[in-house]
Amino acid sequence: MYGFMYRAACPDCGRVIDANEGEPHVCVIDVRRAVADFEAAFALWLETPSGRFAAWDAARRR
Ligand SMILES: [Zn+2]
Repeated sequence: MYGFMYRAACPDCGRVIDANEGEPHVCVIDVRRAVADFEAAFALWLETPSGRFAAWDAARRR
């Protein structure tokens, strides 16, 4: 198994990264982190006047 040495597991999600794949590894942990960051930022934004207005406006249009 000569290819084995060229494989490494992602330290975050444990997925095997194949160097021959040619595509950079998109880590699900990074995606989850980005989603969590977005949700936190969105929750903070909802507390701002423009966020409150947008939430009120969206509810009104429903
Ligand atoms: Zn990963």
